[in-house]
Amino acid sequence: MLVKDLNIGMALKLNGKKLAIELEDRLLSDIALGTEKASRPPGLAVIRVGNDPASGVYVSNKERACARVGVNSFLSHFSENANSSEVIARIQELNRDDLVDGILVQLPLPKELNEQEILAAIDPNKDADGLHTLNLGRLLKSERGPRSCTPAGVMALLSRYEIPIEGKRAVVVGRSILVGQPMALMLQAQNATVSIAHSRTKELTSLTGEADLLVVAAGRPGIIGSNHIKPGAVVVDVGIHRILSTGEKESGNKPKLCGDVLFEEVDPLASALTPVPGGVGPMTVTMLLVNTVSLWQEHCGLSYTLDDLLP
Ligand code: NAP
Repeated sequence: MLVKDLNIGMALKLNGKKLAIELEDRLLSDIALGTEKASRPPGLAVIRVGNDPASGVYVSNKERACARVGVNSFLSHFSENANSSEVIARIQELNRDDLVDGILVQLPLPKELNEQEILAAIDPNKDADGLHTLNLGRLLKSERGPRSCTPAGVMALLSRYEIPIEGKRAVVVGRSILVGQPMALMLQAQNATVSIAHSRTKELTSLTGEADLLVVAAGRPGIIGSNHIKPGAVVVDVGIHRILSTGEKESGNKPKLCGDVLFEEVDPLASALTPVPGGVGPMTVTMLLVNTVSLWQEHCGLSYTLDDLLP
C-alpha cells in the first residue's frame, strides 16, 4: 500500500525490519554473483574499545548481519586501557589489508581516546560508516561515496514506500554529524525544502507544524507530540531510548524502547510513521552492509549494483 492511498486516521507504518530483510536478500545475491569475479567476499573490520555492554550488543548485531549476507567480519577488541596510538596503528594495518573493504569504529569510545583523530585515520575509501570528512564532503557535492548509515536508511525507507520528497517542506530536528546534518543534505539533494531545528531553535512547534516530512533525531524521548504535527505529515522517528520503570527494574523485566516521538499521539494524525522499534533502527545496520558491499565492488572492479541506496 502506498502513502498516497491512505486516509488520515492511523498512519501507515514504515516497516524498517521488513525492508532490511528484503535488502539483505539483495545483498546476498549481489555478493554471491560478485565473489566469483572478485575471488573473495567483502570484508568488514570492526574495532571495539572497552566493555560497554550496549556497544557489545551493537557489535554482535553487526557481526551477525555480516554472516547472514556473506560479508567476512574481523573484530579487533581493545581493552578499556588502550590508547589512541594503538587503535590508530590497527586502523593503519586494516587500511593496507586487501581483504578489508570497510572499517568501522564502534562509538562511543572511552573518553580518554581522541575520537576525531581515530576516525580520521580510516582510509576514506574504507569508511563503512560514511562519516569521514571526505565522505561528508562527497555527500555535500552529490559525489559517489559511502553514506552515513542512519540517514541513508531513512532515505531507503521513504523510497520503498514511494513517499514523495521533491518540492515538499521537510524539517529535521537535530543537527548532529551522525544523523541530522547528513539527513538534511540527503533530503535537499532530492529537492525537498529543508529546515534544521536544534536545541536553540525558538518555537519548535510552529516550525515542525509546517513540515510535510518531519525527521526527528533529537535524542529526547517524546519531544514530539500531536501539537508539533501537521495533519497528514510523514513522521520519521530516529530516536531510540531504553526506558525502565521502577516496577520493571524490581521485577527484572526488559526495558521498553521508545523514540523521540509520542507514538500514540502522532499515529492518528500522521499519514505515515516509523515505529520504535522496527522503523529506522534495523535500516542502520543494513546500510552499513550496503556501504561495505559497495566499497568491495569498487575495490574489486565489479559493477556497482547498489547506487540507488547511496543517496
Ligand atoms: P546527538 O548527537 O545528541 O544530537 C542531538 C541533536 O538534537 C543536536 O543537534 C541537538 O541540538 C538537538 N536537540 C537536542 N534537544 C533538542 C530540543 N529540545 N529541540 C530541538 N533539538 C534538540 O544525537 P544523535 O547521535 O544525532 O542521535 C539522535 C537520536 O537518534 C538519539 O536518540 C540516538 O540514540 C538515535 N539514533 C538512532 C539510530 C538508529 O539506528 N535508530 C542511529 C543513530 C542515532 P544542539 O546541536 O543544539 O545540541
